[in-house]
Amino acid sequence: MSDDPQVSTPAAGTRLDPWHGSYAARTRGMRASEIRALFSVANRPEVVSLAGGMPNIAGLPMDRIAEETQRLLAERGAVALQYGSGQGEPGLREQITEVMALEGMNAHPDDVVVTTGSQQALDLVARIFLDPGDVVVAEAPSYVGALGVFRAYEADVVHTPMDADGLVPDALDATLTRLAAEGRRAKFLYTVPNFHNPAGVTLSAERRPRIVEIARRHGVLILEDNPYGLLGFDSDPLPALASLAPEGVVYLGSFSKTFAPGYRVGWALAPHAVRDRLVLASESSILCPSMMSQLSIATYLSTSDWRGQIKSYRQMYAERRDAMVAALAEHLPDCTWTTPDGGFYTWLRLPDGLDAREMLPRAVTALVAYVPGTAFYADGSGADHMRLSYCYPTPERITEGVRRLAGVVSAEQEL
Ligand code: PMP
Repeated sequence: MSDDPQVSTPAAGTRLDPWHGSYAARTRGMRASEIRALFSVANRPEVVSLAGGMPNIAGLPMDRIAEETQRLLAERGAVALQYGSGQGEPGLREQITEVMALEGMNAHPDDVVVTTGSQQALDLVARIFLDPGDVVVAEAPSYVGALGVFRAYEADVVHTPMDADGLVPDALDATLTRLAAEGRRAKFLYTVPNFHNPAGVTLSAERRPRIVEIARRHGVLILEDNPYGLLGFDSDPLPALASLAPEGVVYLGSFSKTFAPGYRVGWALAPHAVRDRLVLASESSILCPSMMSQLSIATYLSTSDWRGQIKSYRQMYAERRDAMVAALAEHLPDCTWTTPDGGFYTWLRLPDGLDAREMLPRAVTALVAYVPGTAFYADGSGADHMRLSYCYPTPERITEGVRRLAGVVSAEQEL
């Protein structure tokens, strides 16, 4: 599953592994997804996978991209295939500020750090801020790949609730107040404000300044993870939290969903002092982001109608969202779900008493797959929910997948 990066340590902890006693303590926090085995089955063509978060890149102009790549190598191959700056290509950083301007940000290229996908940026932020036992406050539920990073740094993730309008400000205030009373200050608040993965909700415009104010009052940095912000279906982007409080937010962006994930290019926008540490941390882990990928993206941004491409992505995903919610309404009337205004996911609540994790093997046997809600909580809760992705299958397959899922749910209700 593309967006479920978990470190796999197959032999760790078994007597077959001669290095069993040598691993660092932090590897105890790294674990392979318990549902991974099922996903190899779920990837069979006869299974409708509503599980993965793979962007649908079929609409990209591959021939043009191939031509531009060839030209890039012919004309600037010696640069593209060389090491580069640890912070990232200055020209691309400039272009990234233009992308962020679409979400109301007035960023300076000096404050941008190019990373190997926003996943690496998550890792870098965790690396520079988290000591074992430190508290991270994160939405309930939260992106599984971020939870994996926080776990790997041995952080203590404390969830705070969301509703249909995203993070609940009063509940966040209460969570931070309670932590302070316990003498445990959160290092940062991890949030995906737009088209949440997995919850499918968006933080309302009205709540944004409140969340920023609460974090500021408690002295807590915000880690704003925004890979889906430009993939809204009906409305203009809402102001990024980083645009409301540039000094209090580390903002993460990515080309994975608006262009293509294979380049592995994302970025962090951070206050100066944080930026300096991010660059040092990144240099020590990868020396520099791939020059080939960065220059390919820079070329794409300067030679193609990338805004038009994002618009066509939006239309495609909106059609698939429509197919998903229509099928849910028709086939699963006993469930409730979120209707996303953008992004890739809907978050479905099962009828009382059903357990999405226990049900998954039976769903896969019925040739449909999803991600059980438990993957998105640090404490293993969420069994009554599942994440359904509509990004990759065609509308017809989505409808068929939901029909199969409905069969599994009703069989389960009769058990
Ligand atoms: N954050 C969120 C919320 C995501 O959904 C993903 C990918 N699914 C990422 C970060 C990582 O994306 P990438 O590394 O491809 O930029």
